[in-house]
Amino acid sequence: MPISPPRAWVEINLNNLGKNLETARTSSGCGIMAVVKAGAYGHGLERISKFLEQTGIDFLGVANIGEARRIRDAGVKTPIYLLGATWDEEREEIVARNITPCISTISEADAFNGIAAKYGKVLNVHLAIDTGMGRGGFLPSRIVEQIAELRAMRHLNIEGIASHFSSSDEDEDFTNCQIASFRQVIDDLGGEKQFSWRHLSNSAGILAYPNAGCNLARPGLMLYGVSPITSFQQKLKTVMSLKSRVTMVKTVPKGHSISYGRSYITPRPMKVATVGIGYGDGYPRQVSGKGAEVFIDGKRYPILGRVTMDQLMVALPDDSSIRSGAEVELFGTNIPAMEVAEHAGTIVWEVFTGITPRVERIYLP
Ligand SMILES: *Cc1c(COP(=O)(O)O)cnc(C)c1O
Repeated sequence: MPISPPRAWVEINLNNLGKNLETARTSSGCGIMAVVKAGAYGHGLERISKFLEQTGIDFLGVANIGEARRIRDAGVKTPIYLLGATWDEEREEIVARNITPCISTISEADAFNGIAAKYGKVLNVHLAIDTGMGRGGFLPSRIVEQIAELRAMRHLNIEGIASHFSSSDEDEDFTNCQIASFRQVIDDLGGEKQFSWRHLSNSAGILAYPNAGCNLARPGLMLYGVSPITSFQQKLKTVMSLKSRVTMVKTVPKGHSISYGRSYITPRPMKVATVGIGYGDGYPRQVSGKGAEVFIDGKRYPILGRVTMDQLMVALPDDSSIRSGAEVELFGTNIPAMEVAEHAGTIVWEVFTGITPRVERIYLP
């Protein structure tokens, strides 16, 4: 039996991912922890992790032990770092698999120390410092009192120190305060030589700020081709294109309603193409009525009415020769993913991570 091609798919350009990684290296002047949480921002956890491993990065950064497990099970040996705090029942597997956690509290450190002792291991950990994200990490005002207790834990090796920007794509003054606060903490804890790895920058930090005494950077979004700060966009290459096909074309009369809720009524007889993708694929329904466009055969065409779960409609000119089967780009080389995010009233991170499993991932070398 023949297998039909996919309805909706993403094309992932690995060559461009490699180029963006090089840009992260040169812009930061640091080692790289490639952030692959949330299925490598929708690009496919195992495949992207394997690709990145071959480029010789220093760490893969993930959100949780489930992601770390999948990467290890795929045969990837690169050190894996957990970007957030952990809870009790995750910790034994973290130790058993030699995943590197960041430590946010004494009790977390204590728990890891105890498990590592049981396993007869010394676990590499990084100290997380909360310089203004208000998520994980020790407060700068507390870490100085607590460091002696942490250093006394014989089954932990404090290999690194980290913090995280909360507004590096929108607030320069606050970002500079975070950089200064992180530097101060490192000095207070005995200086750079105390920590083999010092890391602070996400993509916006890498692109727009000096490395601040760090020797490791944590790019996520920029690897996948989007700059969180538009003025740096030209440094990056598109990695992901979301595509589908026209399933049918028909002409409807004047005054005809298009899609759920009848939010669009044709002002004249119109040629309308139906495309085989919808919010069930992760193309955001929120773009409905916001002027979003798709790209077909060299031109942009506007979406009409609401995006439905599996299909959406676009307006074609009367003389259009577009037929059923024509390839449609929802975002990618011709329509920036950032533009879709703006039309949807969200951020591009959410657009990427929202692409659902139904969408086939196709890797271009
Ligand atoms: C997600 C994440 C990153 C990557 O952020 P981008 O803005 O996508 O580059 C870096 N560090 C931490 C702690 C994160 O959670």
